Amino acid sequence: MVHRTCRVGLRVTRGQRERCFGLLRSAGDVWACVLEVNHWRWRHQAPPVVSYQALCRELSTAGPGTFGDLDTTGARSVLRRYSDAWFTAAKRRKAGDLSARFPRKRRGLLPVRYYHGTFTLDGRRLRLPTAKGAAPLWLRLDRAVPYPVEQVRSVALLAEGGRLWVEVTAEVPVTVYPADAGPDPARVAGVDLGVIHPYAVAGADGHGLLVSARAVRAEHRMHLSDTRHRRRATAARAPKPGQRGSRRWRKTCRRARLVEGRHRRRVRQAQHEAAKTVIGWAVQRRVGTLTVGDPRGVLNLPAGRRHHLRLRQWQIGRAIAVLRDKAELAGITVHLVDERGTSSTCPTCRKKITKPAGRTMTCRHCNLTGHRDLFAAATIATRTPNHPGGNPTGGGTSTPAAVVLPQVLTHRRAGRHLPGAGLSRRDPRRPPPRHHAATPGDATVNTMGAATGVSWPAEARPTTVGSRSTAPVRRGTTTPPTR
Ligand SMILES: [Zn+2]
Repeated sequence: MVHRTCRVGLRVTRGQRERCFGLLRSAGDVWACVLEVNHWRWRHQAPPVVSYQALCRELSTAGPGTFGDLDTTGARSVLRRYSDAWFTAAKRRKAGDLSARFPRKRRGLLPVRYYHGTFTLDGRRLRLPTAKGAAPLWLRLDRAVPYPVEQVRSVALLAEGGRLWVEVTAEVPVTVYPADAGPDPARVAGVDLGVIHPYAVAGADGHGLLVSARAVRAEHRMHLSDTRHRRRATAARAPKPGQRGSRRWRKTCRRARLVEGRHRRRVRQAQHEAAKTVIGWAVQRRVGTLTVGDPRGVLNLPAGRRHHLRLRQWQIGRAIAVLRDKAELAGITVHLVDERGTSSTCPTCRKKITKPAGRTMTCRHCNLTGHRDLFAAATIATRTPNHPGGNPTGGGTSTPAAVVLPQVLTHRRAGRHLPGAGLSRRDPRRPPPRHHAATPGDATVNTMGAATGVSWPAEARPTTVGSRSTAPVRRGTTTPPTR
């Protein structure tokens, strides 16, 4: 069993919206009260109240009706959050990390969590508990919760980017496969992480997978340029120091917040799609062990602001976490190993290669030519710890196992919902390019796009076309491959 959380948007009336924000504000008030109490105690040399039970006792002495519509369960979830944060900081400080701070900042809005049994989930309707005497709060979700109702353990109400969301956490069983069809731990694949190709995978049986995320990089770039232009256009509206902000300025800020939130959601969606592709491929090829080269050791070197921006947008930690979560659910083991040198070493003769500018890597010593990221992935696969064919120490290049270079390659793209991807990069009001509609292969697969013109967005979701996953697919289209 593993715990998984999904975020679902809310469809609310103006009144419901007000009540939801009221709950979040009340949660912020509870938080502020705890801070206040402990600050007072600190000034009077009394020990702080930090344990969950003690905080709950304080809450019950405050009496009902102190925090608006927020009921005891919701208020206690805030206390739990405070207690957890305090003890985490204390633990880190005890371990010698003096940069860890105890919670001391007030928040306007704070998420409220309700555990199993206190809320009602009925299809796309959700009832949150409210304080005694307050009207029941029924909310409408904008999509069905992707877990069976009996697996749902908790829901949390939160606001992000000016929108209301519910985070639904469920206890999901790890996938069970029929005998001899599940992932085999002895079948190893190496994974190389990158920006253009978030995951390049090389399996032991000569199969490879390349997931392209050029659309995500385009989204980052377009967002950056949009933001710059918006800033320039609206800078004159900004209030002067000491001046009260106008309604127009508040609207400008709100707009920027919404755009920022949309950008983040788009990128996150693409990251999940990329990881899902990898896990789907691994399950299909019965790969039970993924060895991931972790580049985080070399990323803390100062390398200029452009490079730092690139690294921040890459979100390497999240790429690893997302892959690990999905692998865990699918019953696949993930190992993190040092990837040092993998992208600058020839996989077969182990000699040093200067890093190529493009994607193709050529070894001067053995005349080997191929994809740089796949070569790195093949080398990473040999570093699998505790593996019969691998290096037991999990790092270094001293005792390399046999490298298997991918012969059959699968291309997949992440972020096909992005406006920068595929056909939709064009202005959606213009007719589709003629040569595209005339391609013979498109009539069978891409009928919708070719017959009705390019809709906006061109691809809401990645298309799954049969089981042609082992054949190379041409870039930009879902045309059947020519063998
Ligand atoms: Zn070589």
